[in-house]
Amino acid sequence: MVFVWNLRWLSKHLDFLTPAVAFGLLIYGNWAYIHKFAIKKLFHQHGRLATAVGLIATIGVLDICVLLIWVQVLLVGPGAQKTIEPYTLLPPAQVTDPRAESFTSPQVNKPPLIYQCDENGYPTWCAHCQSVKSLRTHHSGRTGSCVFKFDHYCGWLGTLIGAGNYLLFIQFLVYMDCLLLIMWISMSPFIRVYTFRRDGNLIAIYILSVWCSLFVTGLLTAHIYMISLNLTSLEGIILKKTPKKNAEPKPYYVCYKNPKDHCRYVIKLTGPQFMSIWRKCTIWANWIDQLGERAYLWFVPIYTSKGKSRDIESAFDETGSRINDKILTLIDGKLQSGEYLKRFEAYGDGHDEL
Ligand SMILES: [Zn+2]
Repeated sequence: MVFVWNLRWLSKHLDFLTPAVAFGLLIYGNWAYIHKFAIKKLFHQHGRLATAVGLIATIGVLDICVLLIWVQVLLVGPGAQKTIEPYTLLPPAQVTDPRAESFTSPQVNKPPLIYQCDENGYPTWCAHCQSVKSLRTHHSGRTGSCVFKFDHYCGWLGTLIGAGNYLLFIQFLVYMDCLLLIMWISMSPFIRVYTFRRDGNLIAIYILSVWCSLFVTGLLTAHIYMISLNLTSLEGIILKKTPKKNAEPKPYYVCYKNPKDHCRYVIKLTGPQFMSIWRKCTIWANWIDQLGERAYLWFVPIYTSKGKSRDIESAFDETGSRINDKILTLIDGKLQSGEYLKRFEAYGDGHDEL
């Protein structure tokens, strides 16, 4: 009984344990590198004062950056999508609510140019948040909210990564990778001597820094690739999922307002088509979309709202100019060939000139 209770307690606190282990390893690695390697070996044994001071200073600055970013990743958090009231999808004649005097009334929530929906055009709904789920938003049980650009849960940092803290997460990987690379590269010329002398701490941090550096570099490379494609990790995983034998791949439905006739069309898309709606035409534009417009802020380890990836509110404008050109052409082709599931006029559509 006590054992079962302990297991429950452990699983409940496991979220806290992994970051605690990561933090412990960081402290140990730094102590062993600075005290055992830089001071005792480099300076005392080999007499290289300048190299030792230079390395300690560099490692110290990188440590401060890594810890500063870590705290910010936790404090800023993944961000929560604000509640979106159900869209007013009824045609003008069917809106009987007297409060909805015009389509600009606060009681009317005009649907955006394009949104994810079911086969009937009803927007994807989050029952937990009692809100419409905007494009690229997923509900998180951990935070109890819908997260825009939900990326993944990072066990090492102990938080969820989403649009709010994505840039900070990438910065963490970059600074951490620099720290680890400097550690093992600077130790490499001496490691044979230390292995021979069986210097436990030095061998341990050498192996640890090489292993962690491989892991962080791999993770960073994967994220650089995903940023270039304008995908989150979750979207990448969904795309990679192969459907079971003979099963049809999961369809995605979007409701699109055709600017030519101001009518809404429900269109069926495949996973790759759906995921490329927000992909930009150049890699650079994808980077700006994911990490923020001010490229110099990508390297500054201090959070500003300017360094945040774009909000969904500004992701698609009325002309659809931010929707991927190929997808717009594809949707246009589907509309012309009558390849849509539903066509309707939502309240307020077609009255833009008023
Ligand atoms: Zn939700």
